[in-house]
Amino acid sequence: MTDRDTGPTADTPSPDRTAGPAGADPAGEAPRPGPPVLDRRGLLRSGLATGAVTALGLAAAAPAGAAGATPDRTISLTGHLPTGAPDFVLLPFDVPAGVREIAVSYGYDRPTVPAGTPGNSCDIGLFDERGTELGGRGFRGWSGGFRTEFSVARDQATPGYLPGPIDPGRWHIVLGPYQVAPQGLDYRVQVTLRFGAPGPEFTPSYPPERARGRGRAWYRGDSHLHTVHSDGRRLPAEVAAGARAAGLDFIVSTDHNTTSSHGVWGPLAGPDLLIVLGEEVTTRNGHWLALGLRPGQFVDWRYRARDEAFPRFARQVRRQGGLVVPAHPYCPYVACQWKFGYADADAVEVWNGPWTYDDESALDTWDAQLSVALREGRPWLPAVGNSDAHSAPQVIGSPHTVVRAEDLSRDAILDGLRAGRSWLAESASVQLDFTATGQGRQAGIGEQLTVPADAPVDVRIAVSGVPGGTVRFLTDEGQLHQESLPADGTGTVVWRTTASLAAYVRAEVRHTRADGTPGRGNAMGPDLPWGPMAALTNPIVLRSPTRSEDR
Ligand SMILES: [Zn+2]
Ligand SMILES: [Zn+2]
Repeated sequence: MTDRDTGPTADTPSPDRTAGPAGADPAGEAPRPGPPVLDRRGLLRSGLATGAVTALGLAAAAPAGAAGATPDRTISLTGHLPTGAPDFVLLPFDVPAGVREIAVSYGYDRPTVPAGTPGNSCDIGLFDERGTELGGRGFRGWSGGFRTEFSVARDQATPGYLPGPIDPGRWHIVLGPYQVAPQGLDYRVQVTLRFGAPGPEFTPSYPPERARGRGRAWYRGDSHLHTVHSDGRRLPAEVAAGARAAGLDFIVSTDHNTTSSHGVWGPLAGPDLLIVLGEEVTTRNGHWLALGLRPGQFVDWRYRARDEAFPRFARQVRRQGGLVVPAHPYCPYVACQWKFGYADADAVEVWNGPWTYDDESALDTWDAQLSVALREGRPWLPAVGNSDAHSAPQVIGSPHTVVRAEDLSRDAILDGLRAGRSWLAESASVQLDFTATGQGRQAGIGEQLTVPADAPVDVRIAVSGVPGGTVRFLTDEGQLHQESLPADGTGTVVWRTTASLAAYVRAEVRHTRADGTPGRGNAMGPDLPWGPMAALTNPIVLRSPTRSEDR
């Protein structure tokens, strides 16, 4: 939930990215042919001879003052939005033929508001002559409240925006005034049309859908990460390096409300790192992760729960084999709480960034849904954990999800996540093995063990990497067993139950509380009875044949 760009302080204007280690900036390298690159000004450029592109840009700009050249044309769009303004405000402007680049800057007033009252916050984006229809083809980029200026051209665009043709017609600035002060919001947008010959066509470089992998194995991955293409300050190269440093096998790229990063990941993937494409779909009633998008596949976000548009976009993602995952469902920031229900979800992000109280809420809601799904014979919703890391010092991979997959490929990883063959870890230094055994049969995480109702079932977890941690076994009755790990963090805990007693069993490994005690999982009191999460499993389902007539 570190992407609280929609929080009260998130309207601080941020210029185009200037931070970040210079050594990690591909623009520091000599111009070269190949994949798209980000330059120092934060522009996403065609990698087809970067130097030539720059020269072309200069050549096109140079005659601007010369006789015969069309001078820049600036259009001012101003207005006042009252409380109760629409979620999205369309500002049309006409683009004539011969425009090489559209450059936009904007601002709005910030009147003093009483303490506890939200001040003005206004997002911005751009749609081209193909229109602004929900789910339509006109999307050209979105920067939320993160940037005060951006530009789009055929060969390059500010991250968050899509390079491509600047065709004549009616384009639109779209404002998203998501917080309006009692006095209203006065905006001013300046659109500058720069004329000249278009640059070369932008050629995206998408990542391969497969990495080397280890065959059927457990793979670690962070499926919620941001870059300069939305409100993060890390370059994609820095995110890829961070994923490798965190010991991850895969990541999913999930910038808010744009696909502009999709075409830059190609050269950053490798045999050791699978990069899956996605988007964080940031609506006014919660955020969801669209995981496993096809290259350039855009998912619209301009709706609320009341609009009943979400199922349509969830279908769009699932039809392509992707997953729909509500993110940080109890994040307290404006518009971040999940209000769409879980009927169209494939998994839920119960752990987002450092473990906080809203993760406890997400965990409890998820746990309560397990029993209902099992009773109704529906697939249960798997839990996932992701870092949602945007910028330093947020740690990529903390937490992440460890998935049992047939291979290190997009489809296999998505299959594993969909099936709940996964557990959640705060870092790659935590290791865990969790099984249930009965009548000579064994089931692992996300699997089902079918045994006679009263046959003994031995539940076993082996953990390492959590010094002094507390293992909790939980079923549909709540916590039924608690045991501390030794000081070195490595230990095995075994407990016996039956299918008649437990519809499922799952495990948590908690750190000690701030006072160093393990806590008591069944206790009540003003404080949480346990410490932060170190690891968490999806359930093993226990089933007896007498309860399976419906099969
Ligand atoms: Zn996020
Ligand atoms: Zn979010």
